[in-house]
Amino acid sequence: MRNAFVHSVELGAAAVGAVAVYTLGAHAAAEWLRIGVVKRGPARPRVALTFDDGPDPAYTPRVLDALADAGVRATFFMVGRRVAAAGQIARAAAAAGHDLGNHTYSHRHLWSLPPGATVAEVDRGAAALAHATGAMPRYFRPPWGTFNWAAYIRAGQLRELRVLWSVRPEGLIVAADAARMTALVVRQAHPGAIVNLHDCGGHPSTPRETAVALPSMIAGLRRRGFDIVPLRELLA
Ligand SMILES: [Zn+2]
Repeated sequence: MRNAFVHSVELGAAAVGAVAVYTLGAHAAAEWLRIGVVKRGPARPRVALTFDDGPDPAYTPRVLDALADAGVRATFFMVGRRVAAAGQIARAAAAAGHDLGNHTYSHRHLWSLPPGATVAEVDRGAAALAHATGAMPRYFRPPWGTFNWAAYIRAGQLRELRVLWSVRPEGLIVAADAARMTALVVRQAHPGAIVNLHDCGGHPSTPRETAVALPSMIAGLRRRGFDIVPLRELLA
């Protein structure tokens, strides 16, 4: 009886350990050790603006307009099921010269997904972008910037460069504010910075405030001498 109990405790501990390696281990490699993951570009006077979670029928077109008005190309990490519902916005972004990245199909937290479901999320996200735009995405960013090993490996197999960020002006809970976002991005920008923004999702006010912030954010970055480029140029 006692042996069976000890055995089940040992099995449980092994399972917990395996799950920790699968989730925290991959996250540590990506987030802290930066193995096979890009969080910033080379130290040149360039920065990249990246937008997660779209396309959003209301706000992504506003963001695209603001970028076009300023003559800026950026990078969009899109959610596959939203691409499937608004493929014309993904096509418009690609046609305008923006880079598109895979942000999984349905934006599930990868720590809650076993390997098979994770691979499906990565593959379906890429397929939705390929179907909408005719091109496979070249970049991958996991939801909330949180990897598991299956996503880490699958992105590599698909030749999608894993990209996180070095500047993020939004809190997870506090409502976004255009002036505060602009001030923080302009102040924290550094050579090679990758800035994380949202054209959809996040706090309900975030996409609207992001669109409002863009003209002053871009002007402030340029005043500091930064060129604003898509990832393919920042990382070239
Ligand atoms: Zn996201």
